[in-house]
Amino acid sequence: MNGDCLFCKIVAGTIPSKPLHEDAELIVIPDINPQAPLHALVIPRTHIPTLNDMTADHEALVGRMFRRAAALAKERGFADRGYRTVFNTNREAGQSVFHIHLHVLGGRFFSWPPG
Ligand code: AMP
Ligand code: ZN
Repeated sequence: MNGDCLFCKIVAGTIPSKPLHEDAELIVIPDINPQAPLHALVIPRTHIPTLNDMTADHEALVGRMFRRAAALAKERGFADRGYRTVFNTNREAGQSVFHIHLHVLGGRFFSWPPG
């Protein structure tokens, strides 16, 4: 737990949220500023600032984040239509919250390359 971290506060419940899913390792919340009809964030309970801080000890956890993203997309009917999963890392990629989170976006067409 990092006392200055927004997502640690959401995980701890000191900032209220309406989770779409919670388990021992992960919490999934709707993005406050959705960029698509489905825009959720898969957040590990453990504070890991960026993908650069991921170690071998986190491999199973990050794997579970992706499986949870796929489960959510399937639940919402986007598995076959398509959806996007994104980790933004550091300034040039637009990371604004320094506690890793996997964006799950679905329900519209996404351009490639991304902006
Ligand atoms: P990133 O820019 O990749 O670090 O993503 C951070 C995301 O967190 C952005 O899409 C924000 O809209 C979202 N966000 C910021 N504050 C909250 C909050 N309190 N609850 C849910 N999502 C949030
Ligand atoms: Zn944190």
